[in-house]
Amino acid sequence: MKIVQKYGGSSVGDIEKIKIVADKAVKQKKAGNEVVIVVSAMGKTTDSLFSLAKQINTAPPTRELDLLLSTGEIVSVALLCMAIENLGYKAIGLPGFLAGIYTDTVHTKAKIKKIDPKKILEEIANDKIVVIAGFQGISAEDNITTLGRGGSDLTAIAIAGAIGADRCEIYTDVEGVFTTDPRIVPDAKTIPLISYEEMLEMASTGAKVMQARAVEIARKYKIPFIVKSTFSERGGTMVKEMKLEEGAIVTSVTLDENQAKITFFHVPDKPGIAAQIFGELGKEHINIDIIVQNVSKENYTDLSFTVASSDMERAIKISKKEGKKLGATNIICDDNIAKITIIGLGMANHPGVAARMFKSLAQENVNIEMISTSEIKISCVIKKNQGKKALKAIHDEFFK
Ligand code: ADP
Ligand code: ASP
Ligand code: MG
Repeated sequence: MKIVQKYGGSSVGDIEKIKIVADKAVKQKKAGNEVVIVVSAMGKTTDSLFSLAKQINTAPPTRELDLLLSTGEIVSVALLCMAIENLGYKAIGLPGFLAGIYTDTVHTKAKIKKIDPKKILEEIANDKIVVIAGFQGISAEDNITTLGRGGSDLTAIAIAGAIGADRCEIYTDVEGVFTTDPRIVPDAKTIPLISYEEMLEMASTGAKVMQARAVEIARKYKIPFIVKSTFSERGGTMVKEMKLEEGAIVTSVTLDENQAKITFFHVPDKPGIAAQIFGELGKEHINIDIIVQNVSKENYTDLSFTVASSDMERAIKISKKEGKKLGATNIICDDNIAKITIIGLGMANHPGVAARMFKSLAQENVNIEMISTSEIKISCVIKKNQGKKALKAIHDEFFK
């Protein structure tokens, strides 16, 4: 069997842990499997590298930033290969550019364009355990790129697809995907089986355990994967295609504390305004999430939307520029917010789910600033300092 295993930062956080990962890889090889391992940077290395860059230059050139960030995963690759050789097995370490991972040119959140698995397959045929640096690739301009935070998940899924792996396993520091973040709500339960759609919504609304873009690729190319703990045999979550009727009403609750809300005051309420504002933000690769437009008064209206905190500074800059052109009286930004979301495939067919969510928030005296709904989720924007208590209350309502 061809197996791809991905180990996240906390699973390779120190030398002892790297030895555990080496043991797990070798165990699969010994059992007669072809083994490809994808690793993240050790522990909080990526954060430390970011911080180093920012200390030198508050807006570092993104090409060099990617060059710097990519080194984190390369360290893990080299050490893991050494640990595998120690156990008497052959390993070869490949940074993204040697593993045939070709991306577009958007530094710090590059998209994978193509994977040429030739080298990986050759080395598998040479009987080696192939260890690949997650989170990185090479662009058509021959620059090193990175795939956005959490991007090693994407590397693993994309490689599993490219080599036609029989199994793709994502190892992390918790026992699978839970009904909510088990570090905030200890009562959270593991979900044994979940659809791509639900996993994608969870990931896009703050669940962190999987990168959203990785799940998107898994769904598109139908690559099932399992999320498990590196250090425990318990739990485990299978993510795959599922039929609507198999879904529970609410499968999970997520909290995203890395959000900011931007409001345009007093812009003309006429066709083309939203297209202009969001068009300019889109050109800069800024994702917009919840959008709320007030009822218009005398042909003017206020418009609010949320963006990821990491895009906030750039979004404000563009908004101020556009606001000026449109004659907005003011543009304000509030990053003291959080977004709380309930997710479930069956939700659309069960009236009353939203009311239960809102009631749980009301009982905790949490005010809702924005709401958005879709077939499979309901999100509310609330004050950041109420996020964790809101998460507990809503989780209790649906899972206790
Ligand atoms: P890795 O370093 O292995 O990639 P991450 O830190 O990116 O791990 O993701 C794992 C973390 O995601 C967990 O430690 C947990 O706190 C967090 N998390 C948030 N929501 C969930 C959830 N619903 N299920 C599991 N983990 C979650
Ligand atoms: N090391 C990168 C990050 O911290 C990629 C990853 O962990 O998946 O975002
Ligand atoms: Mg991760």
